[in-house]
Amino acid sequence: MSALIIDGKAVAAELRAQVAARVAALPFAPGLAVVLVGDDPASAVYVRNKDRAAAAAGIAVRTLRLPADTTETALLASIAGLNADPGIDGILVQLPLPAQIRAQAVIEAIDPAKDVDGFHPLNVGRLHDGHPFLVPCTPLGVMQLLAHAKVPIRGARALVLGRSSIVGKPMAALLVNADATVTVAHSRTQNLAAECRRADLVVAAVGKAELVRGDWIADGAVVVDVGINRTNDGRLVGDCATAECAAHAAAITPVPGGVGPMTIACLLANTLTAALSRRGLAST
Ligand code: NAP
Repeated sequence: MSALIIDGKAVAAELRAQVAARVAALPFAPGLAVVLVGDDPASAVYVRNKDRAAAAAGIAVRTLRLPADTTETALLASIAGLNADPGIDGILVQLPLPAQIRAQAVIEAIDPAKDVDGFHPLNVGRLHDGHPFLVPCTPLGVMQLLAHAKVPIRGARALVLGRSSIVGKPMAALLVNADATVTVAHSRTQNLAAECRRADLVVAAVGKAELVRGDWIADGAVVVDVGINRTNDGRLVGDCATAECAAHAAAITPVPGGVGPMTIACLLANTLTAALSRRGLAST
């Protein structure tokens, strides 16, 4: 079987262009605040990429770079300022935060109407309740890739590998909402291979290089690889052994060039959604 390789770069470019066209037609530029605390090099790269993509879509980006010794109180005060600022439609605080700051306190301080990462408990609740508003960008991007590749979800047996708040749990909720029969696996799951083999759709978000092997994948299943891992010899690989899995799968996302590009594209889409919603405008 030769698997369809789902081209996340192309789908993301399409979504970015759609957002840019819709922003260009607005009488205002949506405003996005990106907050970076400290000087973690990976976070700095992510923030720069988000800034560039937002600016290219016509979104007015304001980046707040705060020192690594910023107190939680000072960060919460900055967020309160952004919440109150009518020119800001979306607020994103880049994670992880330095140890002296409780990430959950920061997430809960963001106005849910501006919560473009979709991490605020109100937005988490809305998603799990079947009434999603702002949804975490990576799982939202996975759903768009599946839609683009016309992967049937209703009634499908889906396995989500990983239960983080950023990927695994919202991914499972989106799939449940789309009528899949969902299993969530994690580090305590027994016989992961057998769980995978039963699935029509495997979404891997584990952070373990090439954990998922080809013989874990049922013939004709769809594999979405969220993982981004750097091997000792410097290669970028996913959580799935792509070539092995592709030998069984009907479709698979590559790493890089699969889910990764969708995350930023969905951040732009969420910023547009927040901007429209705050002004009482429809988002479709
Ligand atoms: P995380 O917070 O570390 O969560 C990892 C999950 O995998 C946990 O639920 C953990 O189980 C489970 N797990 C770990 N080892 C396992 C094993 N051997 N067998 C089964 N389950 C195992 O990671 P995350 O933030 O969800 O990210 C996951 C991966 O996706 C990472 O590679 C990350 O870089 C990537 N990622 C990519 C994007 C993107 O834009 N493409 C965005 C976000 C994340 P427990 O809960 O039991 O600990």
